[in-house]
Amino acid sequence: MDIESMTIEQRIALVQENIRRAADGRAVTLVGAAKTKSAELVARAIRAGMTAIGENYVQEFREKDAAGAYKGAEVHIIGHLQTNKVKYVVGKTALIQSVDSAALLAAINSRAAALDTVQDVLLEVNIGREPGKTGIAPEELPALLEAAAPMASVRVRGLMAIPPAESSRAYFAPMYQLFVDNRQKKYDNVSMDFLSMGMSEDYEDAIRQGANMVRIGSIIFGPRNYV
Ligand SMILES: *Cc1c(COP(=O)(O)O)cnc(C)c1O
Repeated sequence: MDIESMTIEQRIALVQENIRRAADGRAVTLVGAAKTKSAELVARAIRAGMTAIGENYVQEFREKDAAGAYKGAEVHIIGHLQTNKVKYVVGKTALIQSVDSAALLAAINSRAAALDTVQDVLLEVNIGREPGKTGIAPEELPALLEAAAPMASVRVRGLMAIPPAESSRAYFAPMYQLFVDNRQKKYDNVSMDFLSMGMSEDYEDAIRQGANMVRIGSIIFGPRNYV
């Protein structure tokens, strides 16, 4: 069946099956990237078995959260996060995937400490070294991991990447290598559990190249409703 004519339940089942096949026995977390999608559609996806929802925009997260959209799933922040918005997401989301500076890490740490909680985060790497794109350069990673070590209220759980769209597949192996290299080093408050890469167009290849978390939007939720 053509994916355009499938229900969201059928699309989720198809993607889950493709993930299972590509993963070859490894555990892979599917994160539904829900930007611009309604609270109702998000809730429907969760009822259909989606266990994690990714949001890019803090305002959109707050609105859907207030509407009760996320009941039964965890929320991940996957878009660029400004320091002044940290207070709206720390302690309310399971994973902030898009941390790309020591200043942001410190802001998350102090907010989490104030709430007496520990916030899980991923560090975002600009693996394609694209100018103007968020994420740190690969060589900046050790310094950021060292910066995280004394921060008792954040836990770095791994890495996230959004490789260049036209040539994403060329970056999966280097990204996996970076993940493995840094997993072997031991830093306090760092446990390299997740490598988040792969989206609608390339998730099966990303998984075959070592991703264990994929963020999938359009092939599940349909084209985005930008106004
Ligand atoms: C929108 C988005 C995705 C999903 O993209 P699709 O191509 O629609 O699957 C994944 N990651 C991030 C950070 C996004 O903003």
